[in-house]
Amino acid sequence: MVLTLINIFRLKCPVCCKGEFLESRPRLFFKIIRVRNRCSNCQTRLKIEPSFYYGSMYVAYALGVGLMMFTTFIYWSLSSSFSVLYCFLWIVGILLVLNAYLNAWSKAIWASFFFKKNLY
Ligand SMILES: [Zn+2]
Repeated sequence: MVLTLINIFRLKCPVCCKGEFLESRPRLFFKIIRVRNRCSNCQTRLKIEPSFYYGSMYVAYALGVGLMMFTTFIYWSLSSSFSVLYCFLWIVGILLVLNAYLNAWSKAIWASFFFKKNLY
């Protein structure tokens, strides 16, 4: 379980945990994230069918809601007077900055549901 979380965070292949999962590393702010056709290390086919990673939108939604709740909690605990407008602006700003990472991590989480590790 911990290895899977580390693997997702590092954006490595869900099968061998060594090869790259994405075609390029995500950067802050918006960038289109593409999954490699095959792992660079074990040659596992990472795109197993067309539109396979559309399901990662559900994971991205859950990550976004979790980040929104976390941001609201931090803002609420650090500010002396809670303003819904400023809290909303913080949430939007953080989601825009971390957009590429949320997209990449959601695809890695989605892939970890379907690929079985092969660590030898
Ligand atoms: Zn691999």
